[in-house]
Amino acid sequence: MTSIRKIAVIGAGVTGVTTAYKLLQKGAEVTLFEANPHAAMETSYANGGQLSASNAEVWNNPATLLKGVKWMFTAGAPLLMNFRPSWHKYSWLAEFVAAVPHYERNTVQTVKWAIEARAHLLDMAATENIAFDRENTGILHFYGNHADFDAARKVTEILRKGGLDRTEVTPSEIAQIEPSLKGPLVGGFYTDSDFTGDINKFTKGLAYACVAQGATFRYSAPVERLVPQGDGVQVVFGQPGTTATERQQFDQVVICAGVHSRRLAEMVGDRVNIYPVKGYSITVNLEGADNQAAAPRTSLLDDNAKIVTSRLGDDRFRVAGTAEINGANKDIVWKRIAPLVDWCRERFPEMSTESVVPWAGLRPMMPNMLPRVGPGKHPSVFYNTGHGHLGWTLSGVTAEIVAHSMTAERSAA
Ligand SMILES: Cc1cc2nc3c(=O)[nH]c(=O)nc-3n(C[C@H](O)[C@H](O)[C@H](O)COP(=O)(O)OP(=O)(O)OC[C@H]3O[C@@H](n4cnc5c(N)ncnc54)[C@H](O)[C@@H]3O)c2cc1C
Repeated sequence: MTSIRKIAVIGAGVTGVTTAYKLLQKGAEVTLFEANPHAAMETSYANGGQLSASNAEVWNNPATLLKGVKWMFTAGAPLLMNFRPSWHKYSWLAEFVAAVPHYERNTVQTVKWAIEARAHLLDMAATENIAFDRENTGILHFYGNHADFDAARKVTEILRKGGLDRTEVTPSEIAQIEPSLKGPLVGGFYTDSDFTGDINKFTKGLAYACVAQGATFRYSAPVERLVPQGDGVQVVFGQPGTTATERQQFDQVVICAGVHSRRLAEMVGDRVNIYPVKGYSITVNLEGADNQAAAPRTSLLDDNAKIVTSRLGDDRFRVAGTAEINGANKDIVWKRIAPLVDWCRERFPEMSTESVVPWAGLRPMMPNMLPRVGPGKHPSVFYNTGHGHLGWTLSGVTAEIVAHSMTAERSAA
């Protein structure tokens, strides 16, 4: 007879909570540690909302690199780089460039995962009855010039190798798909199988479901140390309102700590070179019927501005973008928010931006843009982290992969 495994999950973002859920389903006894007082308070708080296989292209390609270098020297561009020397930053950038030869392989892998993830996520939401403002109107990518549109045709071919079909659309077809969208464009690609939703509502809903199914969620409990010991791992964590620490022994631990996973990995002898790539969002409150009609229902990706959008119910419109290589800095800087607001005014002139909630978050990004999923060096340590710009899109499937590998190790033991 096999005894029930005691497993610690670190982090209550979308990756940690989906992992906890999948582990519970496979019969594990789960304790989750979260530094914040609630689930989904960090990067899984107010992201772009897209569950987007159509955005699965990794960024390690020569054209993106060239564009990136140009943007670094252009005010108001989607990419901003702080050149101050840091070993972490420059080692990450070197590994990012080294992953360029694997661009196509890694894009195909990402799109396959993104497609597989949809069923897991929808199944979790349906089983646990989680309302998360899902909008099922597809995702439309649009382009401002012919060179970018031609390049996107090549990406479409690569996405097809991973199993995704997206449809090329003309400006007049775009006007039919999303009549509220204004301003110049030369064409686009529409993916009706993609969808959107509120990551924060989903993650919190699933966290409640985990607790109802017997998981222990320890909030305001930052993990300070991980100590591999014999067949297991000791988790040393802080206690709410005191400077005291507590220790608890587990058979296995899975690290889902977003941008903090790198530091935790170091404690157990692994190198997980995640860099915090900062991004911003605004949530436009759509007050009144006129504003609600003037905002789009279809989720958008403006390739020129590198902006994504999603409609969250009738009364919220989320707009997200920008990438900053600037360390673990979550300050909300108005001059980075302003381009998102200006973009709304240009593209949706009849929608009021009077009430806008700004936010900044850190994408936990691996240099090759693939998440780290699976075992570490120590047999009791596992990872499900580093999903970069696609954590919402991919977490359903990576949670299943890591939970399977942890429990399969168990059956083999
Ligand atoms: C502007 C922006 C737009 C985005 N848009 C999209 C999108 O449209 N679609 C998409 O798929 N993805 C998008 N993403 C990416 C997505 O939001 C992230 O990949 C995802 O939220 C990461 O989830 P996570 O669980 O790995 O990290 P987090 O959500 O950050 O969770 C990690 C958790 O671990 C906890 N933690 C860390 N260290 C410790 C410790 N020592 N002890 C205890 N707890 C700890 C943290 O407090 C945190 O709650 C976007 C990101 C940004 C910034």
